[in-house]
Amino acid sequence: MNKTSGKKLNTSRYGRVSTKRKFDEEFDTVLRESSEQINEALGLSPKGHNFSLETDNLTMRNGKNHGYCIGDMVWAKTGKYPVWPGIIISDPESNKFFKKENNGSNMLHIYYCNDAYRRNWIKLSQVFDFSSKNQILAEFPRTTTQISRSKLKIKWHRAVDEAECLAGMNRDNRISEFFTNNFLPNVNVPLLDNSEVNTLLNKSTKDQTLNSDTIQEARSTPNVNTCIKSTKSKKQNVNQKKSTLIVQQDEMSSKEHPRKLIPELCKLFYTNGWVTGTGGGISIKLNDKIFIAPSGVQKERIESEDIFVQDIDGQDIEVPPIEKHLSKSQCTPIFMCSFSERNAGAVIHVHSQEIVKLCLLNPENEIRIRDLEIIKGVFNEEKSKFYDNDEEVIIPIIENSKYEKDLVHTFMIALKKYPQTSAVLVRNHGMYVWGKDWKLAKTQCECYIYAFNIMIFKKLNNL
Ligand SMILES: [Zn+2]
Repeated sequence: MNKTSGKKLNTSRYGRVSTKRKFDEEFDTVLRESSEQINEALGLSPKGHNFSLETDNLTMRNGKNHGYCIGDMVWAKTGKYPVWPGIIISDPESNKFFKKENNGSNMLHIYYCNDAYRRNWIKLSQVFDFSSKNQILAEFPRTTTQISRSKLKIKWHRAVDEAECLAGMNRDNRISEFFTNNFLPNVNVPLLDNSEVNTLLNKSTKDQTLNSDTIQEARSTPNVNTCIKSTKSKKQNVNQKKSTLIVQQDEMSSKEHPRKLIPELCKLFYTNGWVTGTGGGISIKLNDKIFIAPSGVQKERIESEDIFVQDIDGQDIEVPPIEKHLSKSQCTPIFMCSFSERNAGAVIHVHSQEIVKLCLLNPENEIRIRDLEIIKGVFNEEKSKFYDNDEEVIIPIIENSKYEKDLVHTFMIALKKYPQTSAVLVRNHGMYVWGKDWKLAKTQCECYIYAFNIMIFKKLNNL
């Protein structure tokens, strides 16, 4: 592999290919023509750049001949990180995939495979043609040592698997697939049809008004990226080629995306005294993805990128940036019990003092709440309805263990023995509470802790 990025191999079975290759010539033509068509469809000046590829990108590619283009698969090496596979896609803020720094450095914008939202500008000299795993390991022998930590090793190999899969696709499908894999957890990305031209333009729609005749918004859920599909305009020439645009906007446009909700709720729980001393946690299910807060961190300072995502089988889908050295919540095995056994949509684990105090006052293996209006906010899972205020809520208490994962066995027994319950207390420790969604889990947690306070007051005052 040639490390001098300006002098690339002429052929490659992976993403980057020589500019002499016919495919690239066609690709350039496609980009220009599509850009013109889109401008025309939007009523913009053909020479305008309101909705076109940046001229720099095109001229830069041909004029300066650095040889890379949007959609190319590459290897990138930054700092102490192992060499990592990625794909060249425009920076969503500047809408450029190439720039020249004041110091003269040529920079490319790269999104990394299987590395949860990691992207950056990287010097051209640190970007290498995509090649096989064996080739890159021979080229960068320290990689084997760098990925010796088991978690990183698994992540690296998954990233390479993803990259190799993407590299086997044509350029436009590859970009679409990459966003599907990494950025669009719940969006049906418009499938590219087999028309002659399918062009993906990565362009922010900020400050733009889209013509509804020609552009239809294909946002399947309100909480993630926006996909905009360009349909054939009646005004367009019959020979025009159909274009598909996928416009990336900020992910998680909804405030209720788990990546936004979890940091927000953890901050609230910290204020409530529910997750003091880095304890406790929360997990939210969205379709087939389980979002989980990290373990042992300042819960009020969790950021969106710190969230782990796994599937229902426990397979990691997205993980936080490596440099943050985060680990998944220790409560994960219990969270998963609630998801699988109770079809929960969200599970909260709190370490509030009220729970510990109440368990101290109550040596039994269950808590009985009655004569409180607040229990109307508690859901009876067996009867699939909220409790009436003249009913009794019974919550099991299981004994604590050295590690959270060791609670699974007794937690499962409690679920079976108390089919109506939506919470399990852990003596001297805290509580797990769940609901069909995060709102119900949170509401019930509030109701339980309110009731526990009253019960403590009653016990201490012999009422
Ligand atoms: Zn705990």
